[in-house]
Amino acid sequence: MSIRTRLAPSPTWYVHIGNLRTALYSYLWARHNQGQFIIRIEDTDRTRLVEDAVDKIIGTLTEVGLRPDEWPHHDGGFGPYTQSERTHIYGPMLHKLCEEGSAYYCFCTSERLTELREEQEMLKLPPGYDGHCRHLPLEEARERIANGEKYTIRLKVPKNEILIFNDLIRGRIEFNTNQIDDTILLKSDGIYPTYHGAVVIDDDLMKISHVMRGEEWISSMPIQILTARALKIKLPEYAHLPSVLGNDGKKLSKRTGDAFVSEYIARWYLSEALLNFLSLLGWHPKQDEEIMTMDEMIAKFEITDIHKSGAVLDPIKLDWMNGEYIKRMELGELHTRLAKYLEEYSPEFYANIFSQKDYNYNTRIIIELQTRMKRFDEYVSLTTCLYGDAHIRTDLLANPKMKIETIEQGIDALRFALSILENADYTSLDTLKTPILEAIASAGRKNGQILWPLRVALSGEEFSPGAFELAYILWKDESIKRIQNVINS
Ligand code: GLU
Repeated sequence: MSIRTRLAPSPTWYVHIGNLRTALYSYLWARHNQGQFIIRIEDTDRTRLVEDAVDKIIGTLTEVGLRPDEWPHHDGGFGPYTQSERTHIYGPMLHKLCEEGSAYYCFCTSERLTELREEQEMLKLPPGYDGHCRHLPLEEARERIANGEKYTIRLKVPKNEILIFNDLIRGRIEFNTNQIDDTILLKSDGIYPTYHGAVVIDDDLMKISHVMRGEEWISSMPIQILTARALKIKLPEYAHLPSVLGNDGKKLSKRTGDAFVSEYIARWYLSEALLNFLSLLGWHPKQDEEIMTMDEMIAKFEITDIHKSGAVLDPIKLDWMNGEYIKRMELGELHTRLAKYLEEYSPEFYANIFSQKDYNYNTRIIIELQTRMKRFDEYVSLTTCLYGDAHIRTDLLANPKMKIETIEQGIDALRFALSILENADYTSLDTLKTPILEAIASAGRKNGQILWPLRVALSGEEFSPGAFELAYILWKDESIKRIQNVINS
């Protein structure tokens, strides 16, 4: 069987974290099986169309690397992929169900349905259609339609039947049909199907083999099972994915950290890190790996390794993972991507500082921060002492923990450091470091006694990169200037 998965966004969607995870799993499963990943637009709710939404959805997916094989502008032989362009397909199939008796025409007006709902609310009865038109003879219904009366098509749900369905993640799930309404399949405009009227037909015609979607869709299974039975078609396999939860254990919402993916990847995270992170929100690969390339994820992905329980989105872990991707990035690429980021999100810093420094100066800083920076937005705050002038902080020179009891001892250490740094080799961190350590040892001094004041003089800060890293980044002239400024203060 060829494996075909689909993502079925409505044009009200913006791709947020939960949807991206659904897209990712659908993509991984298709690729794992050399199958196809399809985007179908479910736009039958004509009152809730969002302009540009379709382009934005496909744009975001493509940008993060989840390029579909078939989508509205790329027909793989199963198009059109937009439901509003497929209305000629649904109508005849749904009318046939009425002829066959598994669905029926309903002429109840919206006023009657509103009254019914109000009455049910008052009597504290569960809401639902009361079956008013369920037993209308077909002949009579046909006549009323011919006379121009408005109608909908409703599924004729059998009474008191147990439906069994086997979810790939949750296993066997049972439903009693008594809990299900005679759901509308074709709307009163006579043209547009409802979500239920279209989804089963399209999954079948597009030869979808596996549907992955959020667990909130489990409740729609009985309707889809009955619709498929009426249409005499086989349903795909289903994997209902666990919800993505915020730190408070509740389903992720805007307030608890959900966000549009486009914002996430533009402003905070590398898309490859975000995808890797999302892959683990509910999926646990057998080998316990955490950092995986897309190819590794594709190779390892199995639906049976997805768990049932909700997956908590831990922003600290996401930051950590992003940092791991920064660490592993090739230096040239890191430089380019960081510069692009700064240009967009810290334009003043970029224009007045970053792009004013020579390429190698910036590169030395990037090398130093590559192992410490978790996100690009930290770059500006972590580098103030490297791009600006250092403060003169003689108060920080003494440090009893380093056995520097007085400021004078600190100044003395700086004179010693200066004599070495004036003749040091700044070609690399190593050529700089080794002779300094040797000089300290042969003078019979302790590393901390020299390196602490040196670091303070070079950075002017309580916390900063180490003394060697600072000297290497600043290079000879700037290092010497900063040390002299402190000595002469
Ligand atoms: N169009 C539905 C949605 O907006 C898709 C549900 C499904 O995947 O069956 O989420």
